[in-house]
Amino acid sequence: MSKKTGRCTNTGCVNADKQKKLDSRFGFCPLCGARLTSVCAKCGTALEEGQKLLCPACAEAKQEKQAKTRRAVKAASTGVISAGLIAASVLTGGKEKK
Ligand SMILES: [Zn+2]
Ligand SMILES: [Zn+2]
Repeated sequence: MSKKTGRCTNTGCVNADKQKKLDSRFGFCPLCGARLTSVCAKCGTALEEGQKLLCPACAEAKQEKQAKTRRAVKAASTGVISAGLIAASVLTGGKEKK
């Protein structure tokens, strides 16, 4: 799981200057002690109140990716099943020829 990410907004702080992603579990910048702004763990966009980990754009992209993965997994398992059926019919065919 990705960590909740925050960013220091204190102008003049090195962390703010570098737009360094900080672990926002603590809620404060370890350097200057300023309150952190929650940012998207992926692209660093400041998050609105109530948003978690990812900004709406990244959350949507992630959901789309997960849906694609699910479809791929489903397709793969269907392929395995049909391959198994072919193998089974080949085996049966061999027995019938006896
Ligand atoms: Zn700071
Ligand atoms: Zn984002």
